[in-house]
Amino acid sequence: MGITTINPTTGEALKKFDELSPDQLETKLELAANTFRTYRHTSFADRARMMTRAAENLENEKHEFGRLMTIEMGKPLKAAISEAEKCALVCRYYAENAERHLADQVVETNAKRSYVRFQPLGPVLAVMPWNFPFWQVFRFAAPALMAGNVGLLKHASNVPQCAFAIEEIFRRAGFPEGAFQTLLIGADKVESVLKDSRVAAATLTGSEPAGRSVASIAGKEIKKTVLELGGSDPFIVMPSANLAEAVTTAVKARTINNGQSCIAAKRFIVDAKIYSSFEEGFVEEMKALRIGDPLEESTEIGPLATAQIVNDLDEQVKKAVASGARVLTGGRRVNRPGNFYEPTVLVDLAPSAPVSCEEIFGPVAMLFRVNNIDEAIGLANATPFGLGAAAWTNNADEQRRFIEELEAGSVFINGMVASDPRLPFGGVKHSGYGRELAEFGIREFVNIKTVWIGENKAATENTE
Ligand code: NAP
Repeated sequence: MGITTINPTTGEALKKFDELSPDQLETKLELAANTFRTYRHTSFADRARMMTRAAENLENEKHEFGRLMTIEMGKPLKAAISEAEKCALVCRYYAENAERHLADQVVETNAKRSYVRFQPLGPVLAVMPWNFPFWQVFRFAAPALMAGNVGLLKHASNVPQCAFAIEEIFRRAGFPEGAFQTLLIGADKVESVLKDSRVAAATLTGSEPAGRSVASIAGKEIKKTVLELGGSDPFIVMPSANLAEAVTTAVKARTINNGQSCIAAKRFIVDAKIYSSFEEGFVEEMKALRIGDPLEESTEIGPLATAQIVNDLDEQVKKAVASGARVLTGGRRVNRPGNFYEPTVLVDLAPSAPVSCEEIFGPVAMLFRVNNIDEAIGLANATPFGLGAAAWTNNADEQRRFIEELEAGSVFINGMVASDPRLPFGGVKHSGYGRELAEFGIREFVNIKTVWIGENKAATENTE
């Protein structure tokens, strides 16, 4: 079966690639295993030199890489260029910090000397999504390679050119052949790769069903996994917040990446005292967003990545309306070629309606009115997901309660949820487990080895 790049702005098939044959796949797995044997012994300084070169490649060619992302999955070009820059940032972050993160940790015990050593695990399979086609891969690859692991990328089938471009970035940075390889395979081949004894561990960023499948196969094989799955992040606004700022950030948080971000704010939970003003401002700003060709500088909302995503989104909106929601703006496809959907605001949806708890992956916002902080927290937590959460308030007690009680991998007060190489990133509940980024991320795919050295007389002292 082939893997095809389709431009979501036009629907045009741009390029077709052949999937790897079983023999080609075998060659790549063998190369990964062989490369690991030597690569694991390279010094941090050597790895850092190569990782810094990868950062330079990204910075020098950010416009070309940005264009590639936009053409394959439709994000506005400006955002795609920023994504390439952010990838450079994560490469530099781990180039500068990995040695410190993974330095031996001495622990005082009854031993003469005891300490913790962090060692790489081997080839790690990364199953990745299309929505941040560079960033998702680099935030896995930079720490994995700096730790001495080697990477095998199974990228989403709609972004094969991004997958090859990333492989090429690492190759040109001087990493040995086999340190980072793209496997052009469909999702149906993931099981056999996961079961291969040369593959040590896996990470998946994607949907809940894909996460369940990979985790259960890896579970049977007793292989470590990290899962970064979906989210239905709450964005809570309380009366003490600066409303104008909250509204503008809310619109950005919902529509970033054309609404296709795991940490996009998806449910807006607003205190009744300010609800009407929030709703009015929010609808106005959603209506004003400029929809268009994502290659144009002025475009704020481009197409969704695939035709299937538009169908799924439209289906969810119809389901919401059938369960009592009112559409304040949008609610339909844009009448032009490509996968465009109007920025949409839904209100009056019962919190118990199934769609209220689902992840909506597109520029569609659901607004909910609550009477107090207890209701806000209750509603925010009433979802199977637990990725990020944002809460807007200047009241210290309220801030403390949101930090303590929101069930999420991150809580942002008076800001929108975003990833940063210096801070850990990940979820709880059905949003997954494990962490990426920061010191926590690089420690996921290492053997945390305990070393204990006792007192012992030298053999020569024992002999008479
Ligand atoms: P997806 O359909 O799950 O695909 C993600 C990756 O998994 C792709 O490479 C896909 O390959 C593969 N895949 C799909 N089904 C699989 C299976 N049964 N076994 C093994 N691999 C499988 O997700 P998506 O639609 O691309 O991405 C959107 C989802 O990702 C959303 O739920 C979003 O919230 C989540 N996401 C989470 C994070 C996070 O950090 N938590 C970040 C970004 C996105 P094919 O393309 O070949 O099908």
